[in-house]
Amino acid sequence: MSYSDTECPYCDGGQEINHDDGYGYEEGQTFEQECEKCGKTFVYSTYISYNHEARKADCLNGEPHDYQPITTYPKIATKMMCAMCDDERQPTLEERVKYQLDVGEKLFFVTELANILQEVKRTNL
Ligand SMILES: [Zn+2]
Ligand SMILES: [Zn+2]
Repeated sequence: MSYSDTECPYCDGGQEINHDDGYGYEEGQTFEQECEKCGKTFVYSTYISYNHEARKADCLNGEPHDYQPITTYPKIATKMMCAMCDDERQPTLEERVKYQLDVGEKLFFVTELANILQEVKRTNL
């Protein structure tokens, strides 16, 4: 029990805020809760904090996007994602050749075909 939402102002005991029925989520209001440790009633207000992580995005400032393939299987479904702005798009023909995106797909079909052949053989026996 190391996690607690806040501390009791009377005994400093860690408190888990009871949000049953959505109670206590509204910002700028005062809510009440009884301390689990010392039994005194304290009030609390809720603040929702948003964290923003800022990154450089040169591609939005005149530089070209830095599209990299996102690894998926089969490879033909691979999409390109910009490492800077996270924009996604389909790979171009050049990129398909460059990253050999179609090779994996052919391999996929060969494997599938082998499986089917095996299945046919098995059912014929
Ligand atoms: Zn207390
Ligand atoms: Zn970009």
